Amino acid sequence: MHKKITTLLLASAFITLGSSIPVSAGTHWTGDGAVDGNEIRWGTARGKTAYTTARNHSITVWDNMGSINIAGDNADVVEDLSFRDIYVASSLLGRYMPMSGADVIEYNTYNFTDMTSGEQKKTALHEMGHALGFNHHDSGIMKQGLFSMTTLDSHIKSDYNSHY
Ligand SMILES: [Zn+2]
Ligand SMILES: [Zn+2]
Repeated sequence: MHKKITTLLLASAFITLGSSIPVSAGTHWTGDGAVDGNEIRWGTARGKTAYTTARNHSITVWDNMGSINIAGDNADVVEDLSFRDIYVASSLLGRYMPMSGADVIEYNTYNFTDMTSGEQKKTALHEMGHALGFNHHDSGIMKQGLFSMTTLDSHIKSDYNSHY
């Protein structure tokens, strides 16, 4: 868990987005995430996932946004984020959990095994959005629930570009 967000950053994001979005930008920002020094370095400190296609897609799409480097860790850098599978008999699709040391994104095999590729990718993109510090939206990739989506919507892109 890393807390690098300054009051100044939050204030400027609010001013930029305030008038065009019905819910203030501040409510879409958790103030927490896995970002450390403009990077998320991921690895396997807390386990592995079988859903590498969805994981890799989420890494590529978010990394392509440009400001935050999302890359694998190595012996010289501290891991910020792991991915692992869990099995919970509930409607839970996935979750991001800040932790002391590397944070973790979990995919729920109970549901993932029956989900389409697009639904898995949506969930992986959504959880990575949480790892980048964003909260739920009423639509787009940060909307909760089971649906297919493989790209980022304009709202979350705007939030990203305001915060980073
Ligand atoms: Zn927002
Ligand atoms: Zn969520």
